[in-house]
Amino acid sequence: MIDTYRHKGLRKQLVDIIAEKGISNSRILKAIEKIPRHLFITDTAFHKYAYEDKPFPIGSGQTISQPFTVGFQTQLLNISEGDKVLEIGTGSGYQTAVLLEMGAKVYSIERQKALYERTKEFLPSIGYTSAKLFYGDGYLGLPTYAPFDKVIVTAGAPFIPKDLLSQLKIGGVLVIPVGEGKEQIMQRITKIGSNEYETEEFGVFRFVPLLKEKGKD
Ligand code: SAH
Repeated sequence: MIDTYRHKGLRKQLVDIIAEKGISNSRILKAIEKIPRHLFITDTAFHKYAYEDKPFPIGSGQTISQPFTVGFQTQLLNISEGDKVLEIGTGSGYQTAVLLEMGAKVYSIERQKALYERTKEFLPSIGYTSAKLFYGDGYLGLPTYAPFDKVIVTAGAPFIPKDLLSQLKIGGVLVIPVGEGKEQIMQRITKIGSNEYETEEFGVFRFVPLLKEKGKD
């Protein structure tokens, strides 16, 4: 598990690419420049591509999101230091690491046991010890730890889960790609009253689907 000067150089180039595509928040760019993305990709055959702006397989039929998409969702969340953030879809833990680098307190749910177990070991092994990781169904959120300042869903949701809305603080935001097919519309929903929401849309993205039943793996 090594991070070389070559990897660091490639990360600088990746930061330039996503900055050009519209990621302007310097704290996000700094996080992406710092995090050794290649280590999040278990299949070493993909390591040489780890700093291309692309998603890659991470096992269990899932993918690590494209860095631009990670940056885009994080930018929409508008993270302040100390924000309590719920992430649905831990996957490789890369998005979790970006949120941690920005000073958020992260609670993250993964519904595939194999991925949950791997990431629970992996994140602390590279120094990310503070994330609270859960094996469970993201549609239900984490009522015990609610309310949250921010919620981010990193898989394509067929609809907006009502539990995620109810677990937001007033003034809080949910960033979620919504759509039933292969493509989703990125939405940002701001909770402006106890049962009042404002929705903004931010274009088309492609995510793996948010799965309904908890996996048996
Ligand atoms: N944030 C991840 C992206 C992983 S892809 C990363 O940076 O690597 C989306 C993830 O959502 C997958 O790991 C998938 O298993 C998980 N997922 C799918 N349905 C889910 C659900 N209902 N609850 C929690 N996680 C879910």
